[in-house]
Amino acid sequence: MDEVGRRPGCPKRMVFGPCGGVRDDGRCEVAEERCVFVDDPAPAWEAPVPPPAPPRPGGLLDRARTRPVVLTDLSVAPYDPASLRRVVEALAPVSDGLLVGEHANRPDFPPTLVAAEVLQAGGRPWTTLACRDRNRVVLEQELAGLAAVGVDGVLCVTGDARGPGVRPGATQVFDLDGVRLAALAATAGLPVAVPESPSAPPVHRRPARVADKQRAGAQLCVLNHVRTPAEVAAFVAAARRAGATLPFVAAVAVYTDERSARVLQGFPGLHVDDATVERVLAAPDPRAAGIAAAVAEARALLAVPGVVGVNLSGLAAGGGEDAGAQVKAEVAAAVREVA
Ligand code: SF4
Repeated sequence: MDEVGRRPGCPKRMVFGPCGGVRDDGRCEVAEERCVFVDDPAPAWEAPVPPPAPPRPGGLLDRARTRPVVLTDLSVAPYDPASLRRVVEALAPVSDGLLVGEHANRPDFPPTLVAAEVLQAGGRPWTTLACRDRNRVVLEQELAGLAAVGVDGVLCVTGDARGPGVRPGATQVFDLDGVRLAALAATAGLPVAVPESPSAPPVHRRPARVADKQRAGAQLCVLNHVRTPAEVAAFVAAARRAGATLPFVAAVAVYTDERSARVLQGFPGLHVDDATVERVLAAPDPRAAGIAAAVAEARALLAVPGVVGVNLSGLAAGGGEDAGAQVKAEVAAAVREVA
């Protein structure tokens, strides 16, 4: 351990690991060795954090108190304000929040600038901040900026590592991990969401990890994809037993063609229902079949106690951001209709 307690052998320099990318056989997302947190748990979060920030009026956390909510991934062409505006205009009217991503292979304008553009276009942003590309000082700057522009919340993630060949020569920072970033965001006065990956090893420790993240300041947990709603139900129940009281948003896989499906299937730490994927891709109208599958999955997830909303996640269509936004808008509208 170093002075802040980083675990030797963790390429992401985590204190409060493991990350969500642990492979199914327990190996590290980044290296061939076994993840150093699988057999030796991280310490519990014990430092005090300020009381949670109140939900923004009319925002996702506020609305979730009275009805199911829809948090939609915002997939836009990077460095392209016109693309962002078009996608926000398609999604904002049918979404309670727009989740701005943070992708290793698709850098975009700084998060604060993207959030300001989303707000200007009529959306309610939840901004993902990852620890991969920004040191602690820059994360503090972004948190202050996000609070100043008035985002509904920030999703604090450690972040997936940059894959081989992706921007070689660029360092991967990991001054912080997602749990410590959550505490920093709570201290900055922002509503905080955190992710969790129910199917990633060590599976039996993941529920307690949610409780730990809540102690560090999280008010919402956004779950990664799992194969079935029953697995989500079991996970949420286990998290409740471990002491987590926060609400959950569960991921719905949105795909309507080969490319959008394979991207989701290939992402580390995610599990989608492969049989449904193949059925959708083989359907006479894969677009309609994919939308119907997503709506059905959303309905089933919203019936799980503790799940207050769904996250429409994925590219949705391989034909570009506008086509994907149209698919997600149709799914969101249908989910809201039945919810
Ligand atoms: S899987 Fe993640 S937490 Fe585990 S050692 Fe690798 S980078 Fe660290």
